[in-house]
Formats: sequence, structure tokens, C-alpha cells
Amino acid sequence: MISSIDRNEIGDILYPLKRSKQMTNAVFQANEVVTIRGYQQECECSHCGRPLKVGVLLETFAGPFGAQCLAKAAAPYIYNGRQYAQKADSLKERAIIKGKGQACIDRHGMTDRNFRFTLKTELRSI
Ligand SMILES: [Zn+2]
Repeated sequence: MISSIDRNEIGDILYPLKRSKQMTNAVFQANEVVTIRGYQQECECSHCGRPLKVGVLLETFAGPFGAQCLAKAAAPYIYNGRQYAQKADSLKERAIIKGKGQACIDRHGMTDRNFRFTLKTELRSI
């Protein structure tokens, strides 16, 4: 028989487990599509803490990420039936173009899809 006291104890045990899962610092999940919203100069990577000349800003998260950390977490994209890795330099360039605004985006012939990419692994913040 489970008494009411036992049930409370189970509840107290389950609750912190659930909470601790939510409180991990995974800000984006594997397979999630993220969108570049701009860039930030002279900052620190939210993933590894490394100082950055230019950090990449993503929609729905305040802090910048290093382009190299993003490239590592990014899934390859498919173009003409071939897979290509997301390159850090390209992610950084797109972040700068996005941050400079619509005229710059137009000049580069880019559209919204140029600023979206899919993660293959979760992206954690420190
Ligand atoms: Zn980093």
C-alpha cells in the first residue's frame, strides 16, 4: 500500500528530476531550425566563453555564439543533391549581412532561407 506520505515523497523526488532536465543549458535542440538575426562585435561565445571579434546572434536567444561553435553544431545542407558542411566563415558573413540590414541583404541577393540552418546537435550555453 502506498500511503499519502509515500506519494508525497515520490512527488518530491520526481519534481526535481523534471526540473533539472529543464534547467540544463541547452538553448537549442538537435534538429531545430535556427535563424541568424545579426552579429555582435567584441563579445564572448555563449557556448564556450571564448572571446570573439564577431559573434553570431540567433533568434530567440540573447547571447552571441562563435561561428566555429555554430558550424560544429550545424547539420550539413543539401544543394543540388550533394551535402555540404556549414562553414564558420559563411555563418559569420551571413550574420554580418543580416545585421547590416535589408539593403545589404538585397545587395547580396539573399533571402530568409539564407539565414536559416538546422542543428544536428543541441546547442548549450554556459
Ligand atoms: Zn564557442
